[in-house]
Amino acid sequence: PVPKDPPKIHRLDESVVNRIAAGEVIQRPVSAVKELVENSLDAHSTSINVVVKDGGLKLIQVSDDGHGIRYEDLPILCERHTTSKLSTYEDLQSIKSMGFRGEALASMTYVAHVTVTTITEGQLHGYRVSYRDGVMVEQPKACAAVKGTQIMIENLFYNMIARRKTLQNSSDDYSKIIDLLCRFSIHHINVSFSCRKHGAARADVHSVATSSRLDSIRSVYGVSVSRNLIKIEASDSDPSSSVFDMNGFISNSNYIAKKTTMVLFINDRLVECSALKRALEIVYAATLPKASKPFVYMSIVLPPEHIDVNVHPTKREVSLLNQEIIVDKIQMAVESKLRSSDEAKIFHEQM
Ligand code: ADP
Ligand code: MG
Repeated sequence: PVPKDPPKIHRLDESVVNRIAAGEVIQRPVSAVKELVENSLDAHSTSINVVVKDGGLKLIQVSDDGHGIRYEDLPILCERHTTSKLSTYEDLQSIKSMGFRGEALASMTYVAHVTVTTITEGQLHGYRVSYRDGVMVEQPKACAAVKGTQIMIENLFYNMIARRKTLQNSSDDYSKIIDLLCRFSIHHINVSFSCRKHGAARADVHSVATSSRLDSIRSVYGVSVSRNLIKIEASDSDPSSSVFDMNGFISNSNYIAKKTTMVLFINDRLVECSALKRALEIVYAATLPKASKPFVYMSIVLPPEHIDVNVHPTKREVSLLNQEIIVDKIQMAVESKLRSSDEAKIFHEQM
């Protein structure tokens, strides 16, 4: 029987609200790793090391050598909307840091057990402190520490039974984490990254700081990728159409793969752009006889006011002013590069 009175509306408990919001920001273990690594990059680290246990469900630990966190900030570190990166809404227009909303660490404390160890420059010892549901579990304890910050996320989604179950059945988050670190390491070539399984002697990703993008791609993706790449550049500076600068590497006609690898950074943010990906796949299918799927690394830089970074809860997508024009221009640049390199190759083979 349908009751005739409308259901009563009540206010949700804050802890329920926070856990729901956290579940959107931290969708799976790899989202936690992305937030932590971005925090380490924002802290100007030169070395970032990740350890993972059980695909990230038991443990994710990210250690960096960045600027650390002040002792007096520790009490509010994991509250929602506490950040050192943004003050006014207008700052969003010119934000250079990856983070800006002060939600990542807070979110993790609502769906996992978080322990932070940190030391700032010039201190004799660091501090260790654990958090639960946004608050410190006890006063920070003095401890030995080297430079930087280490953040430990344990028992992710311990309080979200359905999420934990679906993730346990798909054990592929470790490979997603590896993939993520490979992407970061070929963009941030002046930072060294490593990732390994807890207890393993060998790292599964290990990049060393270098000054050559191609060397970095070789060490991360292997020589079968790096020897088949062409350098690509494009830009536009006409304010009436679009303003951007792009450079990167794209695979040539000798490269063979079943799946597209598209590593895209826009204003140093690792993002996805399905329109650009599709545009490039079309060019490859039309231009290259073997119609392999491409490998693409691209870094696009736009005026900060032309990009809206606040359109997606995991910041996976951004929205761009004049996106269609930019995609068209890049598509044309890739097409002409592929044609000329393919002609050069045919010419070479006929000699
Ligand atoms: P956001 O990155 O959006 O500011 P987070 O919740 O990710 O929000 O982090 C909150 C704050 O904690 C950051 O603004 C930063 O000041 C500090 N922080 C987090 N991780 C680190 C780190 N690895 N090194 C130094 N400071 C950090
Ligand atoms: Mg952050």
